Amino acid sequence: MAYQRLDREGCVLHEPALARVRDKFVGGLRLPGDETGDCFKFTNRIAEMATARGARLRFGISIESLLTDGKRITGIVTDHGRMQADAYLVALGSHSPRLLAPLGVRVPIYPVKGYSITLPITDPGGPRNRP
Ligand SMILES: Cc1cc2nc3c(=O)[nH]c(=O)nc-3n(C[C@H](O)[C@H](O)[C@H](O)COP(=O)(O)OP(=O)(O)OC[C@H]3O[C@@H](n4cnc5c(N)ncnc54)[C@H](O)[C@@H]3O)c2cc1C
Repeated sequence: MAYQRLDREGCVLHEPALARVRDKFVGGLRLPGDETGDCFKFTNRIAEMATARGARLRFGISIESLLTDGKRITGIVTDHGRMQADAYLVALGSHSPRLLAPLGVRVPIYPVKGYSITLPITDPGGPRNRP
């Protein structure tokens, strides 16, 4: 991905709201080609498309553990009872390692914290809404 390395003044030029905290950073990276998508719309549309192709989605169910026979998964235990399927795909994000650990499967997924923050804009004339 293309990026620009900016010094302090470069950052302020692209994001004037940073002027008031210019003594708190030394520079930054600008990614002119970066984009933002609507992940709510994206995931809902995927759900619609999967449903249209025959998938049945079950929401509000918590998976507690996997039932196994040796290294083979034979079912799942949920807060709504046990369930079985022809095949199993674990996609619990950062919660996956805990579920897979009893099978001796180690997946290097670890949640990160602090690289993104969301703040209210108290001065609409301040931050620009652009990359
Ligand atoms: C603040 C933040 C900003 C990010 N920004 C970006 C970005 O700009 N661009 C980008 O590409 N990525 C971004 N990411 C990363 C991106 O969100 C993740 O890589 C992506 O969501 C991982 O998808 P996933 O389906 O593997 O897991 P997840 O999205 O974590 O989904 C796992 C799902 O499993 C469910 N679950 C967990 N445990 C259980 C259980 N026991 N029973 C039932 N369900 C369970 C969870 O509720 C969740 O819905 C960001 C992440 C964070 C935290």
